Amino acid sequence: MKMSRRGFLYVAGAGAGMLAAPGVGGMLAGRAGVEADSAREDSLWTAEIPPISPAPRLESDRKFELAVVGGGCTGLACAYYAKRFRPEWSVAVLESHRLGSGASSRNSGAVRARYLGLDSREMAARGLERLLRFIEEEEFECDLKPAPVVELYRSKHTAEKARVSPGSDSTWVSAEELSESMRTSYYSGAVERTEYSSLHPAKLVAGHVRAARRLGVELYEHSPVTDVKRGNPAELVTPMARVRADHVFIATNAYTPRIGFLRYFMMPVHQYTLATRKLSEGEIRDFGLDRWSLRFERNLLPVTTHLMPSGHFFVRIVIGYASYDSCEWRDMEGARELAGKMFVQRYPWVADVGFEHGWHGVTGHTLKVREIACPIAGDSIHVSAAYNGLGVMPGHNNGYLTACRITGRNDDDVRYLAGTSGHYPLPGEFYRSIVFKPFMKIATPV
Ligand SMILES: Cc1cc2nc3c(=O)[nH]c(=O)nc-3n(C[C@H](O)[C@H](O)[C@H](O)COP(=O)(O)OP(=O)(O)OC[C@H]3O[C@@H](n4cnc5c(N)ncnc54)[C@H](O)[C@@H]3O)c2cc1C
Repeated sequence: MKMSRRGFLYVAGAGAGMLAAPGVGGMLAGRAGVEADSAREDSLWTAEIPPISPAPRLESDRKFELAVVGGGCTGLACAYYAKRFRPEWSVAVLESHRLGSGASSRNSGAVRARYLGLDSREMAARGLERLLRFIEEEEFECDLKPAPVVELYRSKHTAEKARVSPGSDSTWVSAEELSESMRTSYYSGAVERTEYSSLHPAKLVAGHVRAARRLGVELYEHSPVTDVKRGNPAELVTPMARVRADHVFIATNAYTPRIGFLRYFMMPVHQYTLATRKLSEGEIRDFGLDRWSLRFERNLLPVTTHLMPSGHFFVRIVIGYASYDSCEWRDMEGARELAGKMFVQRYPWVADVGFEHGWHGVTGHTLKVREIACPIAGDSIHVSAAYNGLGVMPGHNNGYLTACRITGRNDDDVRYLAGTSGHYPLPGEFYRSIVFKPFMKIATPV
């Protein structure tokens, strides 16, 4: 019997979760700390746009009404809306590296009206509408457009199931048609879907930074928060200065367990993206990339390919879990090699085209496959993290909803900010090493 990824994670968690809390897992998960400032290389998205003008380091002690930890789109959106609702408040964002240099500028650029694990399509539609309105009101360009998508099936069995019931907004595409139009014989079939859009993640980050700056949000880079002390006001410790804040928002997504929050409910999963050189218009046509620019494999572990607006074609794969919630991946050469092999396996023509740029990223995952967004210490410290790999729209929207909650603004959707209730504890470090790591290797056959 085949088990879905979600099913696998659930079973592994139910068994090992008992050991995760105080016992073995607790003892082994003792290491912590923020990723080294030098660890990240730019994604191709970031390399393609003019650099965001630098923000200063936080060098003297300060007091703010709201201090946001993490300068990705979730944190920047929260700071932006809070400042809009309460212009008199002092609002700051503290970022450990460069603004937006986490998943926000490393993702695959797919957007849709969907929250993983949430049935309410209406709430997700409102979230997407909010993101679109933000882009329009702030008047920036981020290559947002409807994206033709195929969801691809490798196994004949799952392809057959999808063929029989492709879904209301979907059209079945046979293996023969795929082979002809996409120049690949790797898949047994696909469904074409219409509800996706795509955008340029680094341009979206730049738009968030500009909007926050315009409203007077104070932005600090290379200012990692190394400790969060609960209290009223709460206190944040950075290497050069301390911050006191009436409200704190932890928007550190996959990096969250490393600063000591949500350790037993979420974990980082490492991804690698490898892009070809820029393809000519003729090549794009010949390789069938003009028909479906975004392609998702419906596998145990997701594999995405995407034709960037600039003409680079990339593959994004899952490379695994690094011990102790680390967000650094040691074997970057190995990751690049694996991505290259998987890319060529699917599209043999990419071997001749060659690869130009690769980048690493981390996503935050829970066993429930739902994000966690709630106050975590009294009412002064809030968190929103663990989007399970689908966070471009939910990150922005949760930033908005958290700003509503903190500033006391009414919005019915605040009730959807999902706490940890119903989340299962993850297995501790020992079990992650003996269960998750081999599982991820098995689930990524080359
Ligand atoms: C390879 C990849 C592909 C993806 N593809 C998609 C996709 O196609 N569609 C989609 O919807 N989602 C996708 N996602 C997920 C999406 O990118 C994220 O959910 C979203 O960007 C999360 O935004 P964020 O601001 O919460 O987190 P991040 O952008 O990760 O921001 C968190 C920030 O916190 C900072 N930080 C961490 N620790 C500290 C500290 N101690 N002190 C101060 N700052 C700190 C980090 O440096 C980082 O800048 C993908 C993610 C990856 C990695």
